[in-house]
Amino acid sequence: MPALHPVPGTLEERILRQVEAGRDQLAEITSELIRIPTENPPGRHYPECAALIADWLRHAGFEVESLDPPPDFGDALPGHLAEEIRRLPAPTLPRRNVIGRMGSGPRRLHWNGHFDVVPAGSGWSRSPYSGAIEEGSVHGRGASDMKGGIAAAIGAALALRRAGVRLHGALEISATVDEESGGHAGVAWLAAAGHIASDTDAVMIPEPFGSTRVSVGHRGVLWTRITSLGEVAHGSMPFLGRNAVLGLAPLLEEIRTRWIPEIATRRTRLPVVPVAARAATLNVNSVHGGQAGDGLESPQVPDRAELVLDRRFLPEEGLDQVREETARRVRECASRAPGRDYRLEELLAVEPTRAPADSLALAAVRFGVQRALGTEVEEVASPGTYDQKHFASVAGIRDCVAYGPGILELAHRPDEHCPVEELERSAKVLALTAVAILGAS
Ligand SMILES: [Zn+2]
Repeated sequence: MPALHPVPGTLEERILRQVEAGRDQLAEITSELIRIPTENPPGRHYPECAALIADWLRHAGFEVESLDPPPDFGDALPGHLAEEIRRLPAPTLPRRNVIGRMGSGPRRLHWNGHFDVVPAGSGWSRSPYSGAIEEGSVHGRGASDMKGGIAAAIGAALALRRAGVRLHGALEISATVDEESGGHAGVAWLAAAGHIASDTDAVMIPEPFGSTRVSVGHRGVLWTRITSLGEVAHGSMPFLGRNAVLGLAPLLEEIRTRWIPEIATRRTRLPVVPVAARAATLNVNSVHGGQAGDGLESPQVPDRAELVLDRRFLPEEGLDQVREETARRVRECASRAPGRDYRLEELLAVEPTRAPADSLALAAVRFGVQRALGTEVEEVASPGTYDQKHFASVAGIRDCVAYGPGILELAHRPDEHCPVEELERSAKVLALTAVAILGAS
């Protein structure tokens, strides 16, 4: 078990008081970040938001670097990520990441947050980018997911500075782009280009699991596209062709009546929340076939129809096995009747990930929550993925957890907000983790 440094009571007290003294500032940083609408897609206003974060990092004593991936950044990524990039439309707006670095020593701790947010959508009772600080919360898109988390990390560093703490190791804070669309130009590229050191001892991502929960990892993902091939003919004589849309029907029926119920019986030991997501799941993401429905149509038997499947799998299943099972089920469905012709293509694959049992990051969060909040942290895992996958597979850093402020259920929803109390509690814990991992005087 890697050892945490002892945190003397007087030092702890000083740090916690300084986080409390910075409560209004924490809310203000969150609000400032929310007021820059960094919607992704398409990735608006990244340079402005990066500049604001860089200012705060410098204010907290960090050396700051702004890092724009070059246009051909996809070539630097590992094979499967490079392939995904080739399938995506090239970004038209600038991508900019920020890294702040402070101190040096035997250990390195890295806090990472994404500053892109999903589009606001409808149903808001306040303007989604007001950043209003009212009723004890900061309001707006990104308050929980996860500008509040970035603010908590910066606020923790500011409190350490005000408390006069000298860390005995390296502390880094990165703020990155595009997490909501896969993180290729953000954490994946930073890691591939060597900006995130592979010998980093611990990574914490302040995603909004809430101040008393820590996420140790996530399930895996396999996206596939299945194309049904038919034969085009005049719509008045459909018997002369083979309808590709109807060709999908038996496969959809198979998915509905057998595939989904059968995999739903598989359970993981990963502590995924909500509990229903501890089973393997399959979602039919989209079905497309025939001609575009919004214009005039000509009478045609469609010769092509496709569906995209989003399979979330368990570490106990394994990616290779899920790939094989997908191919087998599609093949078997095709073989049940003559003329069924399916093509299977892989769109995206993410390995499940979990921090090791002897994780330094996990031990530090457990300690920090005990000391700062007087309670035991609850270990959970995420039903969806986040940038932990890139720290694990691209940077090779397995010692990574997600710990941060907010209300997970509000992520991507109208009226997203983050209680100021949550910001303060998470900032306290983060500040103590830095001392416990790096040591300080
Ligand atoms: Zn997020």
